[in-house]
Amino acid sequence: MSNSKKIMCVNAGSSSIKFKLYEMDEKASLAKTIAEKSQYCKALCSGLVERIGHEDARCIIKKPDGSKSEKVLPIHNHDEGVQLVLKGLIEEKIVASLDEIQGVGNRVVQGGKYFSDAHVFDQYTYDRIEELIPLDPLHAEAHLTCFNAFKKALPMVGEVAVFDTAFHQTMEPKEYMYAIPYEWYEKYACRRYGAHGTSHKYLSQFAKEKYFADKEHVNIITCHIGSGASVSAVKDGKCIATSMGLTPLAGVMMGTRTGDIDPSCMPYLCTCTGKSADEIYDIYNHHSGLEGVSGISNDTRDVEAEYYKGNERAILAMDMYASRIAEYIMMYYGKLGHVDMIVCSAGVFENSPIYRKMAFDNVEEALGVKIDEKLNEEKVRGQWGLISTPDSKIPVAVIPTDEELMICLDTARILGL
Ligand code: AMP
Repeated sequence: MSNSKKIMCVNAGSSSIKFKLYEMDEKASLAKTIAEKSQYCKALCSGLVERIGHEDARCIIKKPDGSKSEKVLPIHNHDEGVQLVLKGLIEEKIVASLDEIQGVGNRVVQGGKYFSDAHVFDQYTYDRIEELIPLDPLHAEAHLTCFNAFKKALPMVGEVAVFDTAFHQTMEPKEYMYAIPYEWYEKYACRRYGAHGTSHKYLSQFAKEKYFADKEHVNIITCHIGSGASVSAVKDGKCIATSMGLTPLAGVMMGTRTGDIDPSCMPYLCTCTGKSADEIYDIYNHHSGLEGVSGISNDTRDVEAEYYKGNERAILAMDMYASRIAEYIMMYYGKLGHVDMIVCSAGVFENSPIYRKMAFDNVEEALGVKIDEKLNEEKVRGQWGLISTPDSKIPVAVIPTDEELMICLDTARILGL
């Protein structure tokens, strides 16, 4: 590439670091659409450090040609994890020197009310994320630890925080407020923030550019349905409603998460089971959803296999899953007034025709959405395009999401690279 910059995109979890290193040509910043920009962003490698804190942690680096290096060794903390990744980049000859890396973009789950866009990871950003730890203890601490680890390893390189909540900051108070005493909102910032914002932004922008380049006002419903799942209503590029709430537990049913549930279940289940609120909350997050109802797995593919065998709990779980997604699509249709396109994305909706078909069957009569069976079967594993029939009242498209690309582009934009 002529004049290019290397940007590291990082997604830190409590015991893991996922990463992707991009080489971005300067032409990317001048390109108008995301699709054009993506042509100037080349992934040099991606990888994962997992089981940080264990003696048998793993550091994996994958190259675009399919080859990979994998090490199993003790990794005690994120510092060591980051150092291993950087050492691996040199050993695998992905970079000749670490000086080639000019920016680090960190995915941050919770930006609270403070961030409506990505932001330089400076002291202000650090302090706000620290302040927000009670809202998202698991992720926020990992983000800060990972930020520090990169700062230590690459002290001269600018870092950016790309917030999952930023895209949803355009919601009006009537949308993000909960009907609780107002002082709880004032004192504790208890409200809906949403999540997956980077993905919803990418999907709505990509759909607008590809399908409605000349149309001024465009309303889109974006369905990010993966192991975590959320639906958003996007009006003229701005999010007006989203299904996740204070935390990513709310909204549609997910792989292991309940989605929306009557809050009274909590005290009731505490009484019935003798478990604490923390224990029930953990089950709401990690053992409910598809896994909890089916008793099979949180992986849609395992539940689907049982569905075809006539397993009643698998059938019930998949019926519920489809119905909850359909409810949000119908609600957001109502809020938007008209809908130009519904977008399907993330692990489940990029790869699984039956989950898509079941969800859209639920809205066929009300919204006139019709799915073309052949197109639906074809659009899997990275294929994108329409899956609806020409006479469907609302076109439905599959668009693979690309959160890392958005993080790369945001990092370059914020750092002025
Ligand atoms: P995500 O969180 O977006 O990575 O989605 C991961 C989930 O997508 C998995 O847990 C599966 O339930 C589901 N899935 C369905 N088909 C596939 C597939 N072919 N590849 C990966 N994930 C799939």
